[in-house]
Amino acid sequence: MKASPEHQNLLIELQLIDTAISHLKIKLANLPEHEQITAIHTRLENTAVELAVVETELADVAIDLRRVEVDVEQVADRISKDESRLSSGTGSPKELEQLQHELATLAKRKSELEDGELEVMLKHDGVKARVDELLNDQVGLKQLELELNIRLENATTEIQSEIGTRQTERAQLAPKIEVSLIELYEKVRASNDGVGAALLVGNKCEGCHLSINAIEIERIKSLPADEIIRCEECRRILVRI
Ligand SMILES: [Zn+2]
Repeated sequence: MKASPEHQNLLIELQLIDTAISHLKIKLANLPEHEQITAIHTRLENTAVELAVVETELADVAIDLRRVEVDVEQVADRISKDESRLSSGTGSPKELEQLQHELATLAKRKSELEDGELEVMLKHDGVKARVDELLNDQVGLKQLELELNIRLENATTEIQSEIGTRQTERAQLAPKIEVSLIELYEKVRASNDGVGAALLVGNKCEGCHLSINAIEIERIKSLPADEIIRCEECRRILVRI
């Protein structure tokens, strides 16, 4: 195949644009915000799971607390009734003695219940604190997610705009190059990581970075400037400088 050196040079320019577009697309797909947002989602999910567990626990502890409060109130009521009966002095001495005995038992019971009540209250406070902490985490994580989404959107817009600029450049450049050369370039590029044309610098192919043997270099030198040459190693279009 033949193409003028001018067209071959334009092909290198096209390659530079295509390489830039490829890099921008890779950058777009690998924006750190994607990974950061995924991590935030995982944390939000974990927080929601723990929150559900801790909220259930809080509801259970609240019931326990109410139960022990009722127990304390009931014992306090009985003590107060017994005390008023005792102070009224009605009843036989034996009955009064029984009342005093019962009051001592009730006081002991009340003290035990109050200890239990304190324990449940402390547990309730601890669980409540964890619920609050998780709710707080949720708010913070959602705020962070929002900020990351904005950053992602801005970065995406910026890169897409750069890609757009490069694509416009490409659209202006491509028609200046011979169709058959472009077709060959596209074919080679498709199977060579997006690089279809490379410069021959000294005896080195800038596409695969391998040296071309002396015999081949001599052969290339003997070819007219409009002869399209290909790298023996990577098959890319080699453009002489
Ligand atoms: Zn090569």
